[in-house]
Amino acid sequence: MEKIIGILGSTGSIGTQTLEVVRENKDLKVAALSAGSNIELLEKQIREFHPSMAAVWDEEKAKELEVRVADLNVKIVNGMDGLLEMAVLPEMEILVTAIVGMIGIRPTIAAIQAGKDIALANKETLVTAGHLIMPMAKEKGVQILPVDSEHSAIFQAIHGENRKSIHKLLITASGGPFRGRKREELETVRVEDALKHPNWAMGQKITIDSATLVNKGLEVMEAKWLFDVDLDHIQVVVQPKSIIHSMVEFTDGAVMAQLGTPDMKLPIQYALYYPERRYLPGERLDFGKLKEITFEEPDMDTFLGLPLAMKASRIGGSMPTVFNAANERAVAKFLKRKIGFLDIYRIIEDAMEHHESIANPALEQILETEAKTYEWIESRWKD
Ligand code: NAD
Ligand code: MG
Repeated sequence: MEKIIGILGSTGSIGTQTLEVVRENKDLKVAALSAGSNIELLEKQIREFHPSMAAVWDEEKAKELEVRVADLNVKIVNGMDGLLEMAVLPEMEILVTAIVGMIGIRPTIAAIQAGKDIALANKETLVTAGHLIMPMAKEKGVQILPVDSEHSAIFQAIHGENRKSIHKLLITASGGPFRGRKREELETVRVEDALKHPNWAMGQKITIDSATLVNKGLEVMEAKWLFDVDLDHIQVVVQPKSIIHSMVEFTDGAVMAQLGTPDMKLPIQYALYYPERRYLPGERLDFGKLKEITFEEPDMDTFLGLPLAMKASRIGGSMPTVFNAANERAVAKFLKRKIGFLDIYRIIEDAMEHHESIANPALEQILETEAKTYEWIESRWKD
């Protein structure tokens, strides 16, 4: 059966891999694409996949793209209005949220309101607005299909099970490029070192988040919303080779895991065809070569991304927004080499200490909290 999809953030790591999946499956059609500013790649994608709409964040770039694709039948839109317009395109059935950061919240909500299923990669959206998104999806009869590999693994492990029999989620973590190092050793690490993920090639922001373990913290919060499990029943397990993508322990003690080579196309394809499985070309696990899978406890004293996320999540309300917004701003500064690696934690801690959490924040309050967090950080950590 034909499926018509849209991709929020089609030029990024998840976006381009989603298009690889589309290329392999003739029954997937692309109705809408969007990018921040990379119109060169977006133009190529438009020429290959023929969407009826494409959104570009940057207004000037959008105008430029409009001229470049004037020979095609595609509407070019821009800014937040553009993202909101593409998110509700009538013919589109599933929106892949492959955009990075909280900017994804409003388009995701618009798509849910319009009854689109969501293949969710953009974890920042659930972390900050999960309390709005999950009930809204339920009310609209919309499926939130996880693309994040850990959540896809859990989603696969619980398929066909009664959700009441889930005892605990075991989220695996590679530990990132600095696994085994101590705090003092991290003071002077460089951007290039932090960008070297041992197993996955991903966008820059999530790669830094993997090095700080903020990514794992965000994933714990994402899991809490997706699977309705409290923090006391979510455990992070370091498994350096990223072979086990996550596990679920059931009430009878049985543990179900999903294993595979690290390839995001599997969770992407699973989300797009759920519950059907399709052939996926690529490398397979070879247990003879693999020999062993090892486990460790996460080092919570060194990699504060995880304990700070747990703290934010336990406080709840608008605190996860502060955690996330502070991290987004800190990572941007680190990538620009304005701050050191450990300053990322200092900025998050500082922003969280300064904030008084608002219980059950509405969308406007979440966006306001984001803006205030940025303001606070800029007043204290100038570029
Ligand atoms: P990326 O940086 O490679 O791509 C981000 C995409 O978002 C790009 O297409 C970019 O043009 C677009 N974008 C950024 N700002 C925009 C804006 N203002 N308006 C419109 N488009 C904008 O990021 P990624 O690694 O693909 O990650 C995307 C999301 O998926 C993140 O939330 C990340 O945490 C999550 N995720 C990624 C991976 C992975 O393997 N890359 C795995 C799990 C989850
Ligand atoms: Mg992940």
